[in-house]
Amino acid sequence: MAAHSNSGSDACLVINAGSSSLKFSVFQGGSATELEPVVTGQISGIGTAPRFEAKDAARHKIADHSWAAGENPGRPELLHHLLDWIGDTLKGATLVAAGHRVVHGGTRFSAPVRVTATVLDQLEELIPLAPLHEPHNIAAMRALAQVYPSLPQVACFDTAFHQTQPWQSQTFAIPRELTAEGIRRYGFHGLSYEYIAHRLPQMAPELANAHVVVCHLGSGASLCAMRAGHSVDTTMGFTALDGVPMGTRPGAIDPGVLIYLMREKGYGADELEKLLYHKSGMLGVSGLSNDMRDLENSDHPAAAEAVELFCHNVAKQVAALAGSMGGLDAVVFTAGVGENSTLVRARVAEKLGWLGVSIDAAANRAKATRISAQDSRVPVFIIPTDEERMIARHTLGVIAAEALSRAA
Ligand code: AMP
Repeated sequence: MAAHSNSGSDACLVINAGSSSLKFSVFQGGSATELEPVVTGQISGIGTAPRFEAKDAARHKIADHSWAAGENPGRPELLHHLLDWIGDTLKGATLVAAGHRVVHGGTRFSAPVRVTATVLDQLEELIPLAPLHEPHNIAAMRALAQVYPSLPQVACFDTAFHQTQPWQSQTFAIPRELTAEGIRRYGFHGLSYEYIAHRLPQMAPELANAHVVVCHLGSGASLCAMRAGHSVDTTMGFTALDGVPMGTRPGAIDPGVLIYLMREKGYGADELEKLLYHKSGMLGVSGLSNDMRDLENSDHPAAAEAVELFCHNVAKQVAALAGSMGGLDAVVFTAGVGENSTLVRARVAEKLGWLGVSIDAAANRAKATRISAQDSRVPVFIIPTDEERMIARHTLGVIAAEALSRAA
């Protein structure tokens, strides 16, 4: 990425917009590679009872505002509130751009892009590919353009990092005309994988060209096979449903099950969507919770079964991805479960012993950066992901590149 010569007072707003919440952070720093978050927060309850909360860099709460009953500000008003609050809180800072996490870039967007009216229209066309996320990403961009038209906005895609994958990783074995329509594997969590791809060689330069499987295990979970920092395969596909079980999603499921549910039990698209996005995964199997912490703390047998099913499938996919790229030189755990669950890391590693994976129990408990045992053939790491930082870097990079091309 081009170095960005912004002044220390320049600030970049990062937005991750969901259906009823909008997470934000503001990054400041001397260059695109030395950015630090100065505030983070979220607006929750959008559409019902909005609440604005923010924390400073030391994670101290510095804002908590709810609107009176009867008041129900929409997205533009809420973004106006956010911008005013940033202006009041970060006195002397100049907001130079806003970067958005956008779940789907389709085949068109393989890199971050400056948001324009045309780009917004092109993103609208991708809504059928990600109906639960894309409309909210677009709504936030449109609302921000409405309240602050001169602020440059950049869209950063969760799919973009996977565009380097070979054809055989991207293609379903279906008739070619369907593939040509865009029914193919895209992959997600790309901003997280891209961050890890930058971070790992800083920690272990000898792995710069290695075959690495990164396990992004959060409430959504996927794994990525990376060769020399580039994605060569991943477990999520056309949507964020495929791959390993998640908090409320099943991961890979025989498509025949869906035909059976439609034909024999009268399921329609909406019911299938509810089943697959909201009622399955850890929640469905345990009948208790979608949260790994609850399952680990429960003595209910179904909770232990859910954790076991999760670890079984993660380990299976590590092996599958190693097979896909023809090697395994390192494993990285990241995201909520990957960074925090000692049990999940231990169980997954145990199941991968035959591949030369062995972790040090004390290092694993201590959440050390390198948790593999001395004699492990495959080094194992915990690397906290930072998708927001990646978005801020990309956003300032796009703005800097535009400034350079204007100056040329
Ligand atoms: P993410 O989507 O990356 O924010 O991950 C959120 C998920 O991480 C939560 O739903 C939990 O299941 C999991 N998680 C967070 N902290 C812990 C922990 N200490 N132990 C086990 N799982 C955790």
